[in-house]
Amino acid sequence: MRRTYKFLLRPSGRQVASLNAMLGDHRALYNAALQERRDAYRHPSRTTVRYGDQSAQLKDIRAYDTDHARWSFSSQQATLRRLNLAFAAFFRRVKAGETPGYPRFQGAGHFDTVTWPVDGDGCRWDSQPEHPSQTFIRLQGIGHVKVHQHRPVLGTVKTLSVKREGNRWYLALSCDDVPAVPLEPTGAVVGIDMGVASLATTADGRHFGNPRFLQRSADRLAAAQRDLSRKKRGSRRRRKAVARVARQHRAVARQRADLAHKTALELVRDHDLIAVEKLNIKCMVRRAQPKPDPDRPGQFLPNGQAAKSGLNKSIHDAGWGVFLDVLRAKAESAGRTVVEVNARHTSQRCAECGHVAKENRPTQAKFLCVQCGHSAHADENAAVNILRAGLALQVATAS
Ligand SMILES: [Zn+2]
Repeated sequence: MRRTYKFLLRPSGRQVASLNAMLGDHRALYNAALQERRDAYRHPSRTTVRYGDQSAQLKDIRAYDTDHARWSFSSQQATLRRLNLAFAAFFRRVKAGETPGYPRFQGAGHFDTVTWPVDGDGCRWDSQPEHPSQTFIRLQGIGHVKVHQHRPVLGTVKTLSVKREGNRWYLALSCDDVPAVPLEPTGAVVGIDMGVASLATTADGRHFGNPRFLQRSADRLAAAQRDLSRKKRGSRRRRKAVARVARQHRAVARQRADLAHKTALELVRDHDLIAVEKLNIKCMVRRAQPKPDPDRPGQFLPNGQAAKSGLNKSIHDAGWGVFLDVLRAKAESAGRTVVEVNARHTSQRCAECGHVAKENRPTQAKFLCVQCGHSAHADENAAVNILRAGLALQVATAS
């Protein structure tokens, strides 16, 4: 099993300066490699520069430029591969007939991660194991940096990344072969409906997490963004406003992750099997197409975009995707089963008689079957359907 750990780093003042220099140099490398590819692409011969070419060049540059050789060759290669991925995605979308934006130069505030693909190559996790109370990581060009290791690391450390978030520095460890720690069976199964009013609702009527509290953070974020738009470019006030927006973004992400962890923890602890809807979030948040009005050329009919934008926001706020990721990971390490079922009709089908109709949902929160009169909380009714579908799927795959 694979698992990622995230730890706070406690670099010294001198190390912070080195870390910033390392990020700056990796960013410069990324942008220079991008420039080279751009120039080649614009040249009449439409030459394509490949990762292999750029990696070989980098090796040559390092041979005579000691400033570049200060950092790990592997982490620099990882940066070139990152650019390569951006181009691969770009060309894939061009081929699919889309009009993607050309890969962009990275501004000073946007390039914040350096990755080492292999532990022991330019970096070393737990570099001073003999130290009685403190964990360190050694980074080439920087030295031994203190790690606030708040939990034990299991499995084999594979890749390491250092990330700058505001004024803080974090270490992400990706580990392989992490042993699962199975929990005692409970004999209980559950179906959950993911919604806007509650993050998760179970078939027996438990409601988890009200993501609406995220709305307050979202409002603060919007205010910070409005404030930023009024600041003059290049001014000190603007830099401060940018930092404020970034801080609010991190606050929202943290709250969302927190909610996802707490909810998933309870669900995994109490149930052997958890049935959830299979989500296609990307599809759900797609913008509504503008509808031209046939009677008035150049005019458009209302297409529900405003209402959809509001819902999009709620979907993002609810953080269903984050929740499902956390749920899957926790379930796997606890030896629990997560079954993902097709969400089609689960909210319109009567859990009592099976009648499917849009009219079964008089309001967002209420379910009232027009056939048999069964009435329930709409999310609980859906959760029953999801559990039923999940169990059916489980039986089908087991036999
Ligand atoms: Zn019914």
